[in-house]
Amino acid sequence: MPKSPTRKGEEPKKGFSEAFAAEVVTEIDALVGPGAVDGLDFEAIETAARRRALAIAARAVEQRFNADPSDHRSPTVACRCGRQARYAGRRAKTFQSALGELTLERAYYHCDACDAGFCPRDRALGVQRSSLSPAVTRMVGLAAAMVSFAEGSELMQELAGVPVDAKQVERTAEALGREIAQDERAVVEPELPGAPTMYLGMDGTGVPLRASELAGRAGKQPDGSSKTREVKLCTVWTAEGRDDDGIPVRDPGSVSYSAAIESAASRDTDEAPSEFAQRADREARRRGFDQAERRVVLGDGAPWIWNLADEQFPGAIQIVDLYHAKGHLWDVAKAIYGAGSDLGEQWAKQRRDELDEGKIDTVLAALQVHAQANHEARKCLDYVTRNQSRMRYPEFRAQGLCVSSGVVEAGCKVAIGTRLKRPGMHWTAAGADAIIALRCCKLSGRFEDFWERRSSAAIAGTG
Ligand SMILES: [Zn+2]
Repeated sequence: MPKSPTRKGEEPKKGFSEAFAAEVVTEIDALVGPGAVDGLDFEAIETAARRRALAIAARAVEQRFNADPSDHRSPTVACRCGRQARYAGRRAKTFQSALGELTLERAYYHCDACDAGFCPRDRALGVQRSSLSPAVTRMVGLAAAMVSFAEGSELMQELAGVPVDAKQVERTAEALGREIAQDERAVVEPELPGAPTMYLGMDGTGVPLRASELAGRAGKQPDGSSKTREVKLCTVWTAEGRDDDGIPVRDPGSVSYSAAIESAASRDTDEAPSEFAQRADREARRRGFDQAERRVVLGDGAPWIWNLADEQFPGAIQIVDLYHAKGHLWDVAKAIYGAGSDLGEQWAKQRRDELDEGKIDTVLAALQVHAQANHEARKCLDYVTRNQSRMRYPEFRAQGLCVSSGVVEAGCKVAIGTRLKRPGMHWTAAGADAIIALRCCKLSGRFEDFWERRSSAAIAGTG
């Protein structure tokens, strides 16, 4: 192999890497020992070898970082309060990294006015508020986006060999989720529409909160109190694919999610759209929904959805998700005939067929019969009456539109329910919002982009 020309300063680095490799090999040799390999416990060896190789790497990183005192630039640096903080020696702190524990010495500056200190290098390395390294923070964030904090802690130990207790997983994931939520509000990089027809769905789902978070809030409990707050979800997708019957199906990987516990109510006197309307608008711009040739808003019958659609997406086709509409008819059948009754099943099936065939007047007439005596029937009558223009299913189908992808319904389950509505879970509103932001970021395929922005901000000193 031809030797590449050696520049000045490369020699020590090369010497280091050779010594490093040699040390790892020596450790592994000692671990495996002499003799036949067949009788060895492979799992035990690979786990121990990883641990030792990482420990050597950790020492190398530690040495390299601690050999650089350039973070002691001057006797004083500006504190956040505006005064000057003075240099007060180097301080060691142990961080949990992907390589195991790292003890780093950093220049420490103390501000007399704040009676507090800080290390400029911590900010540059992106660890100013944590004892977890960025890679461990990222792993914790990913784990907590997918599973409970306790399960996340277990995965960290089992998969990465890094001990992070459940409480620390929670704190870290919530802090990261808050960063992601802030990033989501601040950064909208518009994309071109992914397809000629784009769909935007909106829905709400209750998330269980701690009693202390709900004090004084009206709700649906018998005593008028509440156990949950509503998370509102906006999801965007395309459905150019067709199934065997020619019905549009959601394109795999095309779904993105954005959600929070936010108000969608806007009054005529308000200058700005509601928080959730702004969220839906950001998501629409991010996905190019607003630029699509044909735009469809899908949702359940909740008035806030259609008010928002009218205000934010005028001209978009409005469709009541067929899945939801059928569910409402099913509820009416149960209320009239009782659960599990054949008569009820027959009634519901008939109404659903009528809905499919666009016979809205027949559905309305059937509901009218029971409206006087039955509350559910009355509610549903009102619902269908209000939304009939959004329930022209045969017409929508003829235009090749997706009328019941299940995406909106599934979105609530996938993005919110699976992670936040498990037995025994009770959230603070802020905690729920943070984890929702984290999970939506991950499920929408935006985790990597967020990390790139986060690292750049730390390096630029703006993080
Ligand atoms: Zn200060």
